[in-house]
Amino acid sequence: KESSTKPSFLYDVSLSLVASREQRMELDLANAITNQEFQMALQAQYSNVEERIIGFEALIRWTNPKYSAESPLKFIQMAEHNNMIVDIGRIALHETFLIAKELEPYNVHISINVSPVQMLQAGFVNEVISIFEQYDLKPGSISLEITETFLIDSFELVINKLNIFKRHGFNIHLDDFGTGYSSLQYLRDLPINTIKIDKAFIDDVETDAHSRAIVTMISNLAKNIDLDVIAEGVETERQNNIVFKAGCNVIQGYLIGPPVPKEVAIKLIEDYNINKTKKIHVIKTKT
Ligand code: C2E
Ligand code: MG
Ligand code: MG
Ligand code: MG
Repeated sequence: KESSTKPSFLYDVSLSLVASREQRMELDLANAITNQEFQMALQAQYSNVEERIIGFEALIRWTNPKYSAESPLKFIQMAEHNNMIVDIGRIALHETFLIAKELEPYNVHISINVSPVQMLQAGFVNEVISIFEQYDLKPGSISLEITETFLIDSFELVINKLNIFKRHGFNIHLDDFGTGYSSLQYLRDLPINTIKIDKAFIDDVETDAHSRAIVTMISNLAKNIDLDVIAEGVETERQNNIVFKAGCNVIQGYLIGPPVPKEVAIKLIEDYNINKTKKIHVIKTKT
């Protein structure tokens, strides 16, 4: 009898500790919204064909030192469950569009991640369009990144919303492609411009012929149905060469640089696009 009460007592304690830690984070997250503890970091997207940075993905950062080292995935997930993502997403939109306005003279596009919870919110499309107009941005300057995972349940609803976005000049990027419930039907029916090949495939391209074949297949498919393609998480020159040979011209990853503050992003544009003091060397001859 005693041996069964002991573990269950311990179990309860550890459970309550876990719960209270989550609850504390939830409370901190609510305060973070009021105190505006969020910043967008920018990660460059580089075209090996144009030999310039063509855009940046805006990635949210929680500046609170208690959480700033953690991946945003954790608090984004929490915020999706308790609906705080609606407020956090709104802050991200304002910050990103403000940055987009400041970067307008440099002729780069800016991507922002949109959570399924935001997308399914009534009034979301109108809200984004009205913020977009508030910052007086040029059509075509903003891309919305969506993932496949949520399309399954709400395909019709999402397709309608994406079509309105498209009509208003937004580009749509399909994020993390190949890891979710990838369906070729999405590629046919969704008004998307770009497929982002998930980092998981890029991680292995040097060593795994199958990953290489998948990257080639996605790149060829994209080309044939008039979509652009971006390889996520390219870290080395070797990966860049392989991905380029596979038919993917645009890369995003630590080879160009990690997500950085706006000031550093502008420095990158100066180096790669204006002064041309920096360049990524890719092997262009087909073997
Ligand atoms: P994602 O949209 O797929 O963003 C790419 C993630 O890969 C980023 O992580 C980026 O820092 C990381 N990454 C890029 N290149 C490399 C590389 O070469 N090596 C490695 N190791 N990592 C690389 P991050 O910033 O931690 O964001 C994680 C995820 O959190 C994002 O994945 C996105 O799903 C979500 N997220 C970030 N910001 C937002 C936001 O504002 N709104 C929403 N809804 N989700 C966001
Ligand atoms: Mg993304
Ligand atoms: Mg991604
Ligand atoms: Mg991801």
